[in-house]
Amino acid sequence: MNIALIELFIIRMPLKSPFMTHLGTVSEREGIIVKITDKEGNSGFGEGVAFSTPWYTEETVKTSTHMLTDVLIPVLQNHPIEHPQEAAVLFQPIRRNHMAKAALETALWDLYAKEQSQPLSRLIGGTRERVASGVVVATDSTASALRQIEAYLEEGYQRIKVKINPQQDYDFLGEIRRYYPQLPLMADANSAYTLTDLDRLKALDELDLLMIEQPLDPDDIIEHAQLQKAIRTPICLDESIVTFDDARKAHELGSCKIINIKVGRVGGLFEAKRIHDYCYEHDIPVWCGGMIEFGISRAHNIALASLPGFSIPGDLSASSRFWEEDIITPEVTVENGVISVPARPGMGFTINEKRLKETTMAKMAFRF
Ligand SMILES: [Mg+2]
Repeated sequence: MNIALIELFIIRMPLKSPFMTHLGTVSEREGIIVKITDKEGNSGFGEGVAFSTPWYTEETVKTSTHMLTDVLIPVLQNHPIEHPQEAAVLFQPIRRNHMAKAALETALWDLYAKEQSQPLSRLIGGTRERVASGVVVATDSTASALRQIEAYLEEGYQRIKVKINPQQDYDFLGEIRRYYPQLPLMADANSAYTLTDLDRLKALDELDLLMIEQPLDPDDIIEHAQLQKAIRTPICLDESIVTFDDARKAHELGSCKIINIKVGRVGGLFEAKRIHDYCYEHDIPVWCGGMIEFGISRAHNIALASLPGFSIPGDLSASSRFWEEDIITPEVTVENGVISVPARPGMGFTINEKRLKETTMAKMAFRF
């Protein structure tokens, strides 16, 4: 991989409607777009998915920018690589900062797939031509949730996930269940509960949820194991799984029955695939989580979700779920509940240069 230039674009775009969790409301999204160009003129793209504030993980757009600029890009400048997998190894001695690492690592994968004239999905072992599409409803009112669910079901989404917390759980979910008895429905708590809420969580068993995602602390897998023994609803871990070893230990302890894999949270496609492979071997269903992302991260998610173990519809929604106009072309669309996995080389989408320019707040370049 003869890298000639790495460019960073800090972009900002308003969401079509606010995304509410008990941890805060996102109404505008900042992101980092990484463009890597090789000496032959091929370009690969990655996206940093940290938020502006550290509500989901400790990383932010600013910390990711610092890590990319002052640590990770210099590592690549000093160590030429032949394959993206080598970047994952080079980044390993640098603690955490997974979203910054993934931004760069996924751009290398896209570039490498283009250099090899192969679709990224095939390059990493994907077997699906279509991936099932699910959507997240994040609102603080039952009426608004029901309205959104109706619209999303009309658009064909196959699975609905709603955000919950102790102030909005049993009655909220029960009302949705009353309207939609057969709906594939799941709840994401983003760590809003503790074990003292055991009875509240146990009460959700009667609502036939596909799963409850991350009920307890992001750093915990011990109490999740205790909780999983006490409730019938499968627990899915999100925030608690940031490495391959986290997934292995959570499985060995019985902390969850399902794992949500996010490329940014685990530091890139290499680690995401390792977790997938382990789960596939151990019959743990996985699905691909979303980060209110722009089109580049969305494209990488589609490639990841084409791997055989992704048996549950992920947070894989159309570009139009959040954006008036995305930064890729064509935009990601959902048809009959599925997204087609592109057959073109690389991530399979091109950059909407006009939109990228309109939304760019700052730009940096690093020559090799
Ligand atoms: Mg989650």
